[in-house]
Amino acid sequence: MIHEFQPPPPPAPPADHRRSGRRRAARWLLPCALILLAATASPQPPAQDREWPVPDWLFEGFLSVQTMEGSGLRRGLRTVETPDNIALRLQPSVADRLDSAGLRFVVLNGIGGMGLPHEMERVEANKPLAAALKARGIRRLLYVQTIGTIFYEPFFDAVPGSEDWIQVNVDGVPWTYYDQWFRYIPCINNPEFIDYIRGVLQTAVRELDLDGVFTDNYGYYSYSCYCDHCKAAFRAYLNARYPDAEARQARFETAASFDHVVPPPFRTLGARTMHTLINEEHQILDPVSQEWVRFRCERLGEVTRLLNEAIKEVNPDAVWFINYLYGGIPGLNLPVFHGSWAPDVYPHADLISAEASNYPRMENGVAQGRMMVMKIAKRFRVPLSTVNFRALEDLTRISLAEAMAFNTAQVDLVGDIWHAGDLPQWMRDYHAFYREHQPLTAGADTVADTAVLHSFETLAYTYLYPQESLVLAEQSLFQGGITYNVIFDDDLDHLDNFRSLFLPNVLAMSRERAEQIADWVKRGGSLVVTEDTAILNQFMHPWRAEWLKARKTHLLGELLGIDWPESGLVTQQVGAGRVAVIGRIERPWGEVRPITPTEHGLADVAMVQSRESHLPWDYAEHWPTGPAIPLFMRAPALANNHDQIIEAVHYVLDGQRTVRVETDKPVIPEVTRNANGTFVHLMNWEEREPVANFRVSVRTPGPVESVQLLSPDAGTPDTMLAAEYRDGRTEFVVPRIECYNLVILK
Ligand SMILES: [Zn+2]
Repeated sequence: MIHEFQPPPPPAPPADHRRSGRRRAARWLLPCALILLAATASPQPPAQDREWPVPDWLFEGFLSVQTMEGSGLRRGLRTVETPDNIALRLQPSVADRLDSAGLRFVVLNGIGGMGLPHEMERVEANKPLAAALKARGIRRLLYVQTIGTIFYEPFFDAVPGSEDWIQVNVDGVPWTYYDQWFRYIPCINNPEFIDYIRGVLQTAVRELDLDGVFTDNYGYYSYSCYCDHCKAAFRAYLNARYPDAEARQARFETAASFDHVVPPPFRTLGARTMHTLINEEHQILDPVSQEWVRFRCERLGEVTRLLNEAIKEVNPDAVWFINYLYGGIPGLNLPVFHGSWAPDVYPHADLISAEASNYPRMENGVAQGRMMVMKIAKRFRVPLSTVNFRALEDLTRISLAEAMAFNTAQVDLVGDIWHAGDLPQWMRDYHAFYREHQPLTAGADTVADTAVLHSFETLAYTYLYPQESLVLAEQSLFQGGITYNVIFDDDLDHLDNFRSLFLPNVLAMSRERAEQIADWVKRGGSLVVTEDTAILNQFMHPWRAEWLKARKTHLLGELLGIDWPESGLVTQQVGAGRVAVIGRIERPWGEVRPITPTEHGLADVAMVQSRESHLPWDYAEHWPTGPAIPLFMRAPALANNHDQIIEAVHYVLDGQRTVRVETDKPVIPEVTRNANGTFVHLMNWEEREPVANFRVSVRTPGPVESVQLLSPDAGTPDTMLAAEYRDGRTEFVVPRIECYNLVILK
C-alpha cells in the first residue's frame, strides 16, 4: 500500500450540529474608502528559491495508478492468491491497458525497507513492464521505503553494521512502526544510513530508468532518538545557534556548554503549566525540547534535499514524490512526532502525497476536501497528489474538480494498476479538460483576499487549541467564498504582498514581529486576528506579570490601541489600516472555557478541560513507546460564529472581496490569475443537484473583453457570457453548474 496506516474513521457527528452552506454576503458591502495599498499589491508570496525546479512534465497533469498488491508476507497482509496477483500486474501487456485508458503515471511496487540485496529481485521483476510503459510514454516511478521504516531481520542481515542505524528512545528501546514490532525506524542523523539510502535511490533510478521515486512514511516516527549521532548533531546545532555565553544564558538560564545536553525523553507531551493562560493540556515550554523539535524539522529538510539530489544526479528530470504524513493537514502537530514542517521539506520535493486527507464530500454542512493541504503545497508551487483507495465507481467528480481549482497541477492517484484500466467517461472528460486548458491556466496564482499564517512556534509547541482555530477559520474562509493563500513565518517579511493578513490564534510571536505587523497596519494594512494571538513571545512566555500571578497581555491590542474582546467581533480603523478582532472562534462541539487568572494568582489546572470529552472529531494517535498524541484533523462543522469570521474579512477588505457567488447552494469559488487572464473556478460540492442562473461578481482591474464559460460536465455546454462592469467588478450570470465550471475572463 502507498502508506500503510490510515487513521480510524471518525465517529458519527452529533445530530444537533448546525447545518450551514455558504451564505449570502450582501449585508457586509458597506460603502467605504478603497484601500489603495491592497489594490496594487501582488497577491502571492514570493516563490521559494529551489535548488532544483519541479520538472516541467509534471504540470501536464496526470491520473495515476499504483501497484498496490505487494507481498505482505512478513506482515501477514496477503491472500493465498497474492503471488498470482503480483504476477498479473507485472505483465508488459499492462502497459497497453493503461495506454488505452489514458493513464500516464504509474508507481511500481519496489523497495520496502528489507535491505537492498534482498530486494533486487523485486526491482528486476519490474524491468519488462517498465520498458513497455516507457515505450508508450507512460511515466514510471518506483515505491521506495527510504527514511520511514526498515524490516530489521532482513535489513541487518543484508547490510553489515546497520544494527547501529536505528532510532532508540531514552531507555535504549528501538522505536517501532506502529504495532509492527519487527519494523524499526532508521535514524536520519546517521550519515551511513543516509549514504545507504542515496545509493538505493540511485540504483533504483538507474536500473529501471525511472521518471521518479515515490517514498512512503516520510517522517521520524518517534519523539526522540538517543543514538550518538543524534546527541552530537543536536549539540552542534545548539552551538551554532547559541555560540556565545550571553545567548546561551538568555535561552537556557546558564552559560553552560551543551556537552551534557541530550535529546528530551518525551515521556509526556510537555508541561502542565497554566501560567501561559492558554487552554491547552500539553505545552512544550522547556527550551531544550523546543530546540529539539526545530532541530529535527530542519534536519528532515536537509535530508529531503540530499535525497532529491541523489535522484537528480542520475536523472535531472526525475520527480521526488513524498508521502508527507497526512499531506500536511494544518490541524496536526507534525513537527513533534514526525519532525516535519512544510517550509523545510516542500522546497526540496516535487510532489506531495495527501494520502490521509479528507475525501471530498458534503458532510454536516461542511465541504470536506483536500483544499487546505493543496493551499500549503501551492505556497511552494509543488503539486499535491490526491490518493484514492476506493473503487473507481465511488469516486465523484468533485474529487477531480477540487484539484483543478486549488492544486498546482492535476495529479490524482485513482487506484490500483490492475483495477484502474476502465476509467469512467466523466473521469476521462475531466482529465482531457485539464490537459486541454493547462497551457492557458499554467502557473496561475490565487487572487487572494487574505493570507492565513501557519506559525511554527504556535503549531509546534501546542497540540489542539490553535490548531482548532486554524482549521475552523480556513474552513469558514473556504465556504464563505473568501479566496486565501497559506503563508508561513518568513512570508511576514513581505507583508505588502497581502491584501489582508489573517492570524488565527497565533499564540506565539516575537515582539519585533508584532511591531512590524502593527506598523504595517498603521500604514494601510488590513488585519484579521483572533483569540489569543500574540499573548506569548516566540519562546511561549507571557509578556507581563509574575509566573504565579499570570496575566494575559494582548500585545497586538496594545500596539494597535484596541480593547481586545474575549468574544464577539471588534472592528476598528487604525491609522490608515483596518483591524478586525474575533474574540473567539466558537467551537461547534461546545465551548471550552478560556483560562483566566484566579483572584489569588495562578489559574487552576482543573480549568483546562479535557478536549477528549469535547471534541467529536479528534483522535489520539497511540505509540508503543511514547505518549499518545492528540490530533485534530478536520472541521466536523462550521464554527458557530462562521458569519462573524466572514464579516471580519469583509470589514478589513472594505467589502471589496475578490469574488461573490450569489446562491445559497454550496457553490464554492476559487479565483486564479496569470498573464492569460483571470480564471474563476466554480465547484458545486453537491454535484447531484445542479444549480442554475446565479450571479457571480469578480473584482477586476477594468472591463474585460470576454467572459467564457467552460466545463468538463457533459450537461454544461461551453458558452460566452454577457458581462457588466461597474464599480471595479465584472458581473455575469452562470446559466448552469453541475460540478465544475471554469469561467475565463480575458
Ligand atoms: Zn539518532
